Amino acid sequence: MQFDMILKNGRVIDPAAGRDGVFDVGILDGKIAAIAPALPGDGVDVAGKIVLPGMIDTHGHIYQHVTGKFGLNADMVGVASGVTTVVDQGGPSCMTLPGFRAFIAEPAKTRVLCFISAYLVGGLEGHYYPELYGPEQVNVAHTVRVAKENPDIVRGIKAHAEIGGASRWGLDVIKLGKEIARGAGLPLYIHLGQLWPEKEGTHIDPDELVRELVPLMDEGDVLAHPFTRHPGGFISTETGDVHPIVWAALERGVTVDVGHGSHFSFDMARRVLEAGIKPYTLGADMHGYNVKIASADKDRSENPFFGVAPFNLTNAMSKILHLGMSLNDVVATVTSNPAKMLGMSDKIGTLAVGREADISVVDILDGGFELSDNSGVSVTAEKMIVPVFCLRGGARFVANSPLVPPAEQKIAA
Ligand SMILES: [Zn+2]
Repeated sequence: MQFDMILKNGRVIDPAAGRDGVFDVGILDGKIAAIAPALPGDGVDVAGKIVLPGMIDTHGHIYQHVTGKFGLNADMVGVASGVTTVVDQGGPSCMTLPGFRAFIAEPAKTRVLCFISAYLVGGLEGHYYPELYGPEQVNVAHTVRVAKENPDIVRGIKAHAEIGGASRWGLDVIKLGKEIARGAGLPLYIHLGQLWPEKEGTHIDPDELVRELVPLMDEGDVLAHPFTRHPGGFISTETGDVHPIVWAALERGVTVDVGHGSHFSFDMARRVLEAGIKPYTLGADMHGYNVKIASADKDRSENPFFGVAPFNLTNAMSKILHLGMSLNDVVATVTSNPAKMLGMSDKIGTLAVGREADISVVDILDGGFELSDNSGVSVTAEKMIVPVFCLRGGARFVANSPLVPPAEQKIAA
């Protein structure tokens, strides 16, 4: 058999296929043509590297230009970072989805999907103006219609449950978001952790908000930012332990997305993981205000999401690996699990003969690497996962995105 390319001698980790071992992967006409211990012919030697089903970032912000500086370039977050599929969380809305399709999803080399915003305006400037995000600014019927008409790119609904919104409208917007999700037959993805300041003169108990929110979530819905350093995540501000109500939700099939972003806190993550909760999907949550781009830091530093700790998807993988999740489980959070969350297990998330050749090749560096969060905590990790290249539909893209934090963070171990 002839191939256009063979990835030779890499360690293939593919949780959905139950595969972890050294294999060659042959590609022909943009599709996976063979996976076997040794395929005849020359190829790209990836010995010592890890070969994964194309990585899926479940939480990106890539509605470039329309959402202001918030939206990053899709391919910088995607293929140039070793990621073959990026899901924009709440950038496009029912009003702006056609632009997202024409200007972002279609020209991108990356497979671009979205969780459509529950709000008419979408994620403009990173949801900067709370008055644009009340229940009056939601149109259930229109959003359901647009979601149903665009199933190839709309795979869920995005809304926020946090004390700033709750101080203005209670959980009304979440309930409308749930109505949209039900009408469209798609999962609801809920942001946890404070986003807006509380309305003047009000005070919302973040624990009470979580207690009211969680029962609204159904199987397949997603709770995001469980490890947030802001009030309103999985850890009760009252007790310092995981909210008891979260367990019942996980039991009925609600899943957990890390949504790293500027929210991630080692302290919170450690407490949640030690309690026995494993994140199901990862989601880097990179956007124009929280990533390190040398150029534009000055005018971004005013933004509430401004972050200083460099991160990306593989950096987030390194963090949960460091916190004790197994490598195979970490891989599942960016491959098989997100494919399931997106209802696309038949297309992405595993390497199978006949499927489009979406493949990520990463390296796991050994040493001592400083990993930090935005609450000022740093840890020294022995392993650092870095992207090398990916294939998207068989086309090869080197991981040269300026958003990938430099690997020379090596410090004396
Ligand atoms: Zn986000």
